[in-house]
Amino acid sequence: MTTRTSAIEVAGLRKAYGGREAVAGIDLTVPAGTVYALLGPNGAGKTTTVRVLSTLLLADAGEVRVAGYDVRREADQVRASIGVTGQFSAVDELLTGRENLRLMADLGHLGRRGAHAVVGRLLERFGLVEVADRRVATYSGGMKRRLDLAMTLVPGPRLIFLDEPTTGLDPRSRRDLWGTVRELVADGVTVFLTTQYLEEADQLADRMGVLDGGRLVAEGTAAELKRLVPGGRVELQAADEETVSELARQLPQAIPNHGALTVTLPHDGSLTALRRLLDMIDGTGMTDGVDGSDGMDRIDGIKARAVTGLAVHTPDLDDVFLALTGRSATDGRVSEEVSV
Ligand code: ATP
Repeated sequence: MTTRTSAIEVAGLRKAYGGREAVAGIDLTVPAGTVYALLGPNGAGKTTTVRVLSTLLLADAGEVRVAGYDVRREADQVRASIGVTGQFSAVDELLTGRENLRLMADLGHLGRRGAHAVVGRLLERFGLVEVADRRVATYSGGMKRRLDLAMTLVPGPRLIFLDEPTTGLDPRSRRDLWGTVRELVADGVTVFLTTQYLEEADQLADRMGVLDGGRLVAEGTAAELKRLVPGGRVELQAADEETVSELARQLPQAIPNHGALTVTLPHDGSLTALRRLLDMIDGTGMTDGVDGSDGMDRIDGIKARAVTGLAVHTPDLDDVFLALTGRSATDGRVSEEVSV
């Protein structure tokens, strides 16, 4: 395995609890300085994977290198290179925000001056200056999560694991945290994220993997994953009913909507398919020709500029999740938000 540009390399990872496989053989690579999101429903094996990658759990089989080190043989070096923020906040509610950060700095042997500088910088960066000397018990959920992430960053890790970092946060706090994660990535930090929120993966991740029953059932960019499932469509806007009928007659699988003056047809969202469709419309004489001839002569009764608009709808990640795991991504999410 090469380690120079990969922050994480996993090959054949397996982990069972009492004979039941929670992670059943996964392979993945995360280039340094990128965000990778591991998506999956409850019990898919996300936390188990993060625990193995962050040296908190020993795998049964597989090769795992994190920050260039083997998690089994070089666990101390791995630990010194990473930060881990779990699903449940690790902050001490009886201390103030500043004291929590100071505690991390002391554990990291940063020294008095170094600690002072790092704590000040992190309070500033995470918007916690105003509340720095208040007990954490009085913080909102979003503030606690930000403090938790700030604590993870005290030793200056180049790779951080965020295990469901925004579970239970309101949409505003979630967006704030996404902004913070983006800033970290802009600074060159690698982020390995687990989440049940497809929007979160869509917003943050360069690449993502969908885990189901301990197996990676799909991997790629959001756009690549969206192309895996059917459901993409193109909607053509027609100038009049006559054009709607003509399009529906000439284009395979087209569904006309005479009221809305649209025609919808299945489409994979690729440029090639889009070009083919435009060529077909052009061939029908329904659009202006680029050479100035509008093709009116080719088909009687079709006016120039008869197709007035075109919209491409690619399936969203919810469609992907449903198709790949057989479950809606919102299963579990609603109950989680209610219970917090
Ligand atoms: P969630 O989103 O609910 O946190 P997850 O995708 O993180 O789920 P894991 O927590 O990794 O999933 O769990 C994967 C499977 O392993 C589940 O079936 C779970 O019940 C089981 N499991 C996890 N930890 C243990 C444990 N310590 N002992 C026994 N079984 C476990």
